[in-house]
Amino acid sequence: MVRISMKQTTTPNKRAPQRTCVACRAVKDKRELTRIVRTPDGTISIDTKGRMAGRGAYICASLVCWQTGLESNKLDYVLKTKIAPEERKRLLAEGRSLIGGG
Ligand SMILES: [Zn+2]
Repeated sequence: MVRISMKQTTTPNKRAPQRTCVACRAVKDKRELTRIVRTPDGTISIDTKGRMAGRGAYICASLVCWQTGLESNKLDYVLKTKIAPEERKRLLAEGRSLIGGG
């Protein structure tokens, strides 16, 4: 008896972790997105290294997404906090310099 085994060759596919942008809802590789963290003391910080403790939100390296995320309260919603207007301005400025212009 001949048994045909349907052995599938699985190519070693290292799947990068994926995250959703809070602004445009696009799912991208984690490393393509910028992490924004609400730290345990309540500060909102841009986590460039991706290892800060706290509740995180991800956003595209696109100025449009930064503006949308910050101006439409989407970030507040995801981070379950209220971001003060000056914080928004600061984050937007930081994001802009991170993206590199606009
Ligand atoms: Zn986006």
